[in-house]
Amino acid sequence: MAIEKTDVVIVGMGAVGGVMAAELGKAGLKVIGLERGPRLKTADFTLDELRYFQRKDLRPSPKTQPVTWRPNANTPSFRLPQMDYGNQAGGGTVHYGAVSWRLHEDDFRARSHTIERYGISAIPEDSSVADWPLSYAELEPFYDRIEYDIGVSGKAGNLQGRKIDGGNVFEAPRQREYPLPALTKDQPSVLFEGAAQKLGYHPFSTPHAILSQAYKGRPACTYCTYCQAFGCYIGAKSSILVSKLPEADATGNLTLKTGAMCYRINTKGKRATGVSYYGPDGSDNTIEADIVIVGTFIYDNTRLLLLSKTDEFPSGLANSSGQVGKHIMAHMMPNVFVGFDDRHVNTYMGPSAQKYTIDDFNADNFDHGGMGFMRGAQISVGTPNLEGGPISFSTIAPPPGTPRWGTAYHEFLGKYFTRHAAMVGQTENLAYPDQTIDLDPNTRDAWGLPAPRLTYDWRRPNETARVEFMMQKMEGIGRAMGGNVVWRGPLSPGMPGAHHEGGTRMGNDPNTSVVNKYGQTWDIHNLFVVGSSTFPSMSGFNPTLTIEALAMFSADAIASKYKKSPGPLL
Ligand SMILES: Cc1cc2nc3c(=O)[nH]c(=O)nc-3n(C[C@H](O)[C@H](O)[C@H](O)COP(=O)(O)OP(=O)(O)OC[C@H]3O[C@@H](n4cnc5c(N)ncnc54)[C@H](O)[C@@H]3O)c2cc1C
Ligand code: SF4
Repeated sequence: MAIEKTDVVIVGMGAVGGVMAAELGKAGLKVIGLERGPRLKTADFTLDELRYFQRKDLRPSPKTQPVTWRPNANTPSFRLPQMDYGNQAGGGTVHYGAVSWRLHEDDFRARSHTIERYGISAIPEDSSVADWPLSYAELEPFYDRIEYDIGVSGKAGNLQGRKIDGGNVFEAPRQREYPLPALTKDQPSVLFEGAAQKLGYHPFSTPHAILSQAYKGRPACTYCTYCQAFGCYIGAKSSILVSKLPEADATGNLTLKTGAMCYRINTKGKRATGVSYYGPDGSDNTIEADIVIVGTFIYDNTRLLLLSKTDEFPSGLANSSGQVGKHIMAHMMPNVFVGFDDRHVNTYMGPSAQKYTIDDFNADNFDHGGMGFMRGAQISVGTPNLEGGPISFSTIAPPPGTPRWGTAYHEFLGKYFTRHAAMVGQTENLAYPDQTIDLDPNTRDAWGLPAPRLTYDWRRPNETARVEFMMQKMEGIGRAMGGNVVWRGPLSPGMPGAHHEGGTRMGNDPNTSVVNKYGQTWDIHNLFVVGSSTFPSMSGFNPTLTIEALAMFSADAIASKYKKSPGPLL
């Protein structure tokens, strides 16, 4: 059993861990980063759709690293068939779609904004949607820094309050342009843009953490097709693996341990003393640290707190409020597909996720009066399953009336592979206290630890009304694109969609939240939990740029305040 000492131990070296290791290393703190997976290199990635899209090679295995799911507390749980998060240094950013949003100003105040405009009755009685304890203005400098650090391509729609056509005119004010121009439009984007304009909407190129031009020694994107679910074979995707981790290495202050599975946060009285982990050889090891940062994504962020209970903290660490594991959220991703008889649109080409977008029906960018739901969705055009290869296309449901076998199915695949586009409405589902993660008493992982168990069912009146509204809007756009056939994809039977969030929510009140705005737990001041597990509401936007900005915000507070005077930051 090895025991090592350091200033800071970070568990999980994904989006959160990579950013914090770089920033704290620059501040002169010695950091040990623990990562259960390997550290891969750009040269390791190949354009292999079977391996990365179908077999999900870069994600945790449902067999050995299960997360279980049940729709409600009265139903048995079973293993989720696919894991949607990271399993190697760089975490989920290695294989993500790299869609990179800043949240709107009202996303930070979803609850109070809704009450101000529509009254308290607009909020479902059983929802626990809450305001964030920080504002867009506080986070803006960190959004700006992360965009320039990693390299994000896009076009501003709101520069210091000045609205700019061609960018997202609904975005919150940004102090300067994106570091790189928007990516090149493909044919579905051209058709989507024209249709959306015809309908009076405001289409724009989706911002991506993908290089449209060479940047900081990395080459520009080649529009290779195999993007979301894959590691980028040239390093043009601005994953943490090729952006912040090299920056952390350059500080000389990071020791990264791979194959290191953390199973416990250690405490003495009201202080965290470090963590314990299993090494790749099965050894049981301990790191002693002045500061413990947990950035393992929502499942282990919750599981580690629950697994680490002591006599002092009998219901798990940082859980005096009883809030650990609650208020889980996920984006639903309803699809509408469009088929063209008269043209090839080659949707498979280029970065695959969410290529062109309208924000007109997201957040509170439209009048929700009488709609029967609050908040919205961004609507984007791209590829089915956010990946454009032939295997991905073969997993979509064909139009009603076309069977999934035989000659008619072959004809559908042959005709429409190059002649279809997919739209997705990424809906902002609300937090509810009975959407939870706890420890599954019946399922264990390869290390013998109880699996995180998700109790979740998205099919609530507010959420189903929102999904139906977005489906109708997408059908309208599909017809305006000139589609000969426009059809809906099936909806999930209650299971969560993409971008799982919640479980260690942040707030201003220690009685109703787990961490403060810096990710510092209310109960143990040298224990920080960072990531989308802290989001009180989710917005219709993909979360990672916000996760990375928050990680910078936390690192900045640790370096500038906590390091000088350890104790509660608030
Ligand atoms: C297929 C896919 C596409 C996506 N596309 C987008 C997109 O286009 N835009 C966007 O904004 N977001 C996207 N996301 C989400 C994005 O990947 C996550 O928001 C982001 O990676 C979360 O960052 P994190 O640091 O919290 O977690 P991760 O990046 O998942 O990092 C957590 C790390 O902790 C490690 N870990 C976990 N438990 C332990 C433990 N006990 N001990 C040691 N190590 C541990 C994991 O191996 C992992 O490397 C996508 C996700 C998936 C799965
Ligand atoms: S589409 Fe571009 S960013 Fe994505 S994997 Fe291919 S080259 Fe890399």
